[in-house]
Amino acid sequence: MENDTDETTSLLRNSRSPINHLIDDVETIVAAPLDDDNSSCTNNSTARKCTVKTEIEDPIHVLAGTYESLDYDECENDVNIKDEARHGPKWIIKREIARWFVMAMIGIITGLIASVIDVAVEYTSDLKFTYVKHYVDKCAEHYCLLIPFAAWAGFNAMIVMVGAVLTAVFEPVAAGSGIPQIKCFLNGVKIPHVVRVKTLVIKVIGVVSAVAGGLAVGKEGPMIHSGAVVAAGISQGRSSTFRFDLNLFEYFRTDTEKRDFVSGGAAAGVSAAFGAPVGGVLFSLEEGASFWNQALTWRIFFASMLSTVTLNIVASCRNGKCLDLSSPGLFNFGRFDTTSYNSVEILLFITMGVIGGLLGALFNHINYKLTIFRNRYIHYKFLRVVEAMIVAMISGVVSFLVIFIHNDCQPMRAEPTSYPVQFFCPDGQYSSTADLFFQTPEEGAKHLFHDTEGTYGVVTLVLYCIVFFFLACWTYGLSIPSGLFIPSLLVGAAWGRLFGQCLQLMFPNAVWLDSGKYALIGAAAQLGGIVRMTISLTVIIIEATGNITFGLPVMVVLMVAKWIGDLFNEGIYDMHIHLQGVPLLGWEPPLLSSEISTRKVMSHPVTVMRTQEKVGRIVEILKSESHNGFPVVQDYDPDHSNDSGVQTFGTFRGVILRSQLIVLLKLKVFQESPDYQEKLSNLKATDFRDAYPRFPPIQQIHVSPHEHEFTVDLLPFMNPGAYTIQDGASLHRIFRLFRALGLRHVVVVNEKNQVLGMVTRKDLARYKSSVSLSKGKIVIKE
Ligand code: ATP
Repeated sequence: MENDTDETTSLLRNSRSPINHLIDDVETIVAAPLDDDNSSCTNNSTARKCTVKTEIEDPIHVLAGTYESLDYDECENDVNIKDEARHGPKWIIKREIARWFVMAMIGIITGLIASVIDVAVEYTSDLKFTYVKHYVDKCAEHYCLLIPFAAWAGFNAMIVMVGAVLTAVFEPVAAGSGIPQIKCFLNGVKIPHVVRVKTLVIKVIGVVSAVAGGLAVGKEGPMIHSGAVVAAGISQGRSSTFRFDLNLFEYFRTDTEKRDFVSGGAAAGVSAAFGAPVGGVLFSLEEGASFWNQALTWRIFFASMLSTVTLNIVASCRNGKCLDLSSPGLFNFGRFDTTSYNSVEILLFITMGVIGGLLGALFNHINYKLTIFRNRYIHYKFLRVVEAMIVAMISGVVSFLVIFIHNDCQPMRAEPTSYPVQFFCPDGQYSSTADLFFQTPEEGAKHLFHDTEGTYGVVTLVLYCIVFFFLACWTYGLSIPSGLFIPSLLVGAAWGRLFGQCLQLMFPNAVWLDSGKYALIGAAAQLGGIVRMTISLTVIIIEATGNITFGLPVMVVLMVAKWIGDLFNEGIYDMHIHLQGVPLLGWEPPLLSSEISTRKVMSHPVTVMRTQEKVGRIVEILKSESHNGFPVVQDYDPDHSNDSGVQTFGTFRGVILRSQLIVLLKLKVFQESPDYQEKLSNLKATDFRDAYPRFPPIQQIHVSPHEHEFTVDLLPFMNPGAYTIQDGASLHRIFRLFRALGLRHVVVVNEKNQVLGMVTRKDLARYKSSVSLSKGKIVIKE
């Protein structure tokens, strides 16, 4: 992986993709240790730059400089405290009720969006398959198979083109499942445009076109992203895309509140996708949330429940039985009521977990190489659209060829499949190969789980598994919204069923052997091997099967698949996150991080603000530096050094953010202004939240040369309770502090509370270690 990292670095530097543009900024974010003579850093009053070279060769991995952090630490300054006191307890209760109301809306709207996607995919796919099936049946007799063949490929390409154009041209961040982006958001990294309404609209249209266009994708993954966008939109009561502001819920316009709602939205998305409300809550917990409390868990569960119920009501009404409520998710695995397992089979399941882990690692490796290739060569918009169309056509062509080459004839069943195609089979029979390919992936998976023994021949399953494995791998990363859950389940279901059928050949008298059960375990193993999720995925699968009996085997299989896969590479979502240089903080500190001291990690020198700061200096610093947080200090003496000869920067009083400084400059809260006292007493927390989340850049703030001589008193506006850490602490400790509290800045101080350095998430994310296998030995890469 070391070579891979170097390869990635050089590729990203060479390419002209947006990612590369971000990576170029790496130079501005690298902090060199105080006592590191090898680093080539230049210090000046305006900026500190270090060349990356030495750092990349070290334990550090490449990060993009332009990803900003979200601020999950609440600011306890005078303005906020006065505001809270002025509103009183009634207002606090009103805000609590509003939280529940917003969560309810998030659940209901996410459920409705899932219903719209469901209906749209069903109609579009129905249209396509009915037309193609008609010609296949007709042409099998009249030897004109080229017509349906071309029609299938053509249909696929045209439908996919719609989604690909929208994504590539208008909102590239809508591509893929969106799970990595939401994971980053919950982790505390701001990904531009990720929770915009425009992104949601393109996501919905795009996913319909991807599924209906025959790509090896599912519609479930993007639901998580959709739920998150709904949450971010509703909780803010305004949309920057459509330029309206309902002036509602303005007290939710902070990163902390938004993060909590987005957790609810993501959970509601999982719930709608799989009819798994508990799985949804656990997904939000496992995949990101650093901060969690009981009330929040309840609210998220509430949103998840409403989401699945809304979808259920709509789906049941569409089936003509509104009170039936039997369709809880976009995809459920069907009931496994009659199946169980015996304890000996656990060993077989563990073996399947190993296979899932190995195949998952292979899948991720191929996709990793492909993504690097894409970043290097396919960065023009039209090329991305063309690639998506080519994959759509090839998906159609390959499927057709497989059906043509391998004609697996089966007697027509009492319970007909959606589109039974006779093809070259005798009357009364249908081609089971065509049956598998003439389905949406969701239906295909259900057939593999529940079709009776002997429905599919061994060759059919082998071909299906191979074809789908490579198509899914190629498809993930295309410029179109797409989910990876269903294709992974499908590949796993195919080899799992094959595994079961092979066992039947080996033990013909074993009555406990049911290949549908092995298809389910194979599906879990393959999905676990690719995404490496554990607890949430186990619960999602249990809820989707509606059978707790499989709880233990699914858990064991997912654990084994994750452990095996982790020996080779990361889960696919983490892999994509790291390829984009996002400073994501994992759950655990890097291995051996207790041996790395804060001084190695922190940035030094520090740009600080004095408690009474000159307007001119604030403007100059905001213009010349990109930092978003500044320690506020008193007794700042640039020439003063402490005993060990390390420069200090005054006594720590608090931290002030760039956004707060911008508001103060904009409102001209200068001590020399004639109306200063009036301004000060009228200033409310809303004044600081008004421009959230996009504060104007300093270039748009007009400050006259005369005003440059004025001063701003920062004490009432800074966060006096900002977290600090002693310079003797280890990386391990700072990491835990950051991760648990979702921090953006931590100021390093000495025993006299004097500022020594600054640590941000980028300083921590650069340290990364992994455990891997090399020549049969376990190696810890630092
Ligand atoms: P973010 O971008 O995460 O919102 P930020 O812009 O304040 O926060 P980073 O971009 O993470 O900070 O910081 C880039 C580098 O600059 C890091 O190495 C960090 O330690 C350093 N840094 C941040 N703030 C200061 C500061 N006030 N003085 C000196 N160095 C700083």
